[in-house]
Amino acid sequence: MPVSQLIDSHCHLDFECFDEDRAQVIQRALDNHIHNIVIPGTQKIFWDRIKQLCSQHKQLHACYGLHPYWVNEHDKQDINQLNKYIENSRPVAIGECGLDFRPQQADKETQLYFFESQLDIAANHQLPIVIHSVKATDTVIQTIKKFKNLKGMVHSYSGSVEQAKQLIDLNFYISVGASATYDNAKKIKQVVKDIPLTSLLLETDAPDQPDLNHLNKRNEPAYLVNTLQAIAELREESADIIAEQTTTNAKNLFKI
Ligand SMILES: [Zn+2]
Repeated sequence: MPVSQLIDSHCHLDFECFDEDRAQVIQRALDNHIHNIVIPGTQKIFWDRIKQLCSQHKQLHACYGLHPYWVNEHDKQDINQLNKYIENSRPVAIGECGLDFRPQQADKETQLYFFESQLDIAANHQLPIVIHSVKATDTVIQTIKKFKNLKGMVHSYSGSVEQAKQLIDLNFYISVGASATYDNAKKIKQVVKDIPLTSLLLETDAPDQPDLNHLNKRNEPAYLVNTLQAIAELREESADIIAEQTTTNAKNLFKI
């Protein structure tokens, strides 16, 4: 068990599936050395519940944004609302936003509109950005390059080593969850081995993406230690060194 405190850099702890036992979930996280949890925003209607949760628990940190998965639920006015919202309730980051080019997702043009609008807000407010990228990493990189002074993270990273290096050069962290530990996850395992530790973040993406010990169950922040252990083995470094550096990285990014 690592001595250092850990940070779950991406966890949807506001989702309804945690309503019954959220306090216990947070306690189990603390029992496993996870002292800070970053909650990404998904849709405008849920920003208030994130705000409320983060005011109740000092371990939780809010992001507000519009997730590409729900792009058909968003209204272009939501961008103005987001601008106003963060003036009154400054989050640790904007997001999650980004691009999801799986065939069943909304058209690329609409996704790009919401993505670029949120990159603009992040740049203007000097806030980090939390990016969701599925089958879209080259377009994400091209889009980021249009903006100056951006920094952020690509959550649940699924691109190549080469793309990761480009993102790192653009001031982005590579955030990795339990899916990096799956047997068939050759590409992301290579990324975990090859990128500098100073660019790595750990996340659960709970309730999604459980580790191999909890397949088909609800994921939760306490399980971050299993991902930490797997990454330590992949990199042939001690879990403690990885815990310490990834916590420093997340603190640098989110200023928590
Ligand atoms: Zn997410």
